[in-house]
Amino acid sequence: MAEQPAHSELGPSGASRWMNCPGSVTLSKGKPNNSSDAAKEGTAAHAVAEKCLLEDKEPISFVGETVEGWEIDRGMVPHISEYVDMVRAESQFSTHVGVEERFTILKEFDIFGTADAMLIQDTELHVIDLKFGLGLTVDAYKNKQGMLYAWGALESLKPKDRKKIKTVRVTISQPRKNNHSTWSMPVGDLELFIHEVKIAAEKASSGSLECNLGEWCRWCKGKIDCPEQNKTAIEYAQEVFEPSKITTADLVKVFLVKDALKMYIDAVDSHLYQLAMEGEKVEGLKLVWGRKGNQKWTDPKEASDFLESMVGDDAFKPREPKTPTQLKKIAPDYAEDIEGFTSRSDAKLKLVTEADKGKAVVPNVGAEAQSIFSE
Ligand code: SF4
Repeated sequence: MAEQPAHSELGPSGASRWMNCPGSVTLSKGKPNNSSDAAKEGTAAHAVAEKCLLEDKEPISFVGETVEGWEIDRGMVPHISEYVDMVRAESQFSTHVGVEERFTILKEFDIFGTADAMLIQDTELHVIDLKFGLGLTVDAYKNKQGMLYAWGALESLKPKDRKKIKTVRVTISQPRKNNHSTWSMPVGDLELFIHEVKIAAEKASSGSLECNLGEWCRWCKGKIDCPEQNKTAIEYAQEVFEPSKITTADLVKVFLVKDALKMYIDAVDSHLYQLAMEGEKVEGLKLVWGRKGNQKWTDPKEASDFLESMVGDDAFKPREPKTPTQLKKIAPDYAEDIEGFTSRSDAKLKLVTEADKGKAVVPNVGAEAQSIFSE
């Protein structure tokens, strides 16, 4: 879903951040929006999907075309198709289908947005959000961005149509992560959520400097000026240097903010690098040349021809099949056969926060110990 307008400080995609950390709005003011390659590719994928749905085209027909400044390659096609096919399938059960419709979500706070797809299916309003990235897996459950779009879509309906809607559904389509997540809630629950949004938006737009660390820090443009990040990084560093005082509870505190701290340290690193590259003297630091990059073929085809004639087959790696997931997409008719040639390693236990949806596991410590002693 695209963010609009550009000047809005309380965009739906940042709702998780500004609802949890009002100070991030103040600290992000005037900071540039750096558009990454992943973001450009995502914008292009959305534009292709939109054209396919509105003009009855197929994603494959865009290969080689430059859309929104990004060249569409063959690798993008199956993922865009997965989303387009899903919206087409859902459309068959819909009395209204909107593609890239722009909504006013909360006018008083300048919150607007454009839904990738909005459908009305009997008494349910359904918004679908295409996420083209390969980063974090996004869950539809209580997804603030999706709920804000659902509210905008609901409010855009004529009163008589709105009355008929009893539930709203949010679907996240993240084809490159094999993630299709969907969640439905009663309209009453959405209204309660919007009440919370208004309270948070009021605070976030008031110039508040209340900062709260969390996974939402990842996308915060105000990281470098954030007192909470700075204070936490220094406090934890000091604790780590006094091992006698560290308890397990202290270490859990470090665990809970580890991702935020890593992001902060990365942001500090790139900020200082930028200063040094601009010629500013950064006391205590200097720029030096790093190692050269790995050696690579200037023209792989030309090198292959030469090596084949001189060294023969020994110059080449053995042929390797693509991954099972890639092959099932390329040859869906053989998916079952492909499955027969695959295996998976067992799942490993991982440490997560209490808020994670996974069921808690108590390890069988006795059996573990026995297996170690019997080795
Ligand atoms: S870095 Fe995190 S805690 Fe600091 S302002 Fe941004 S979102 Fe808030």
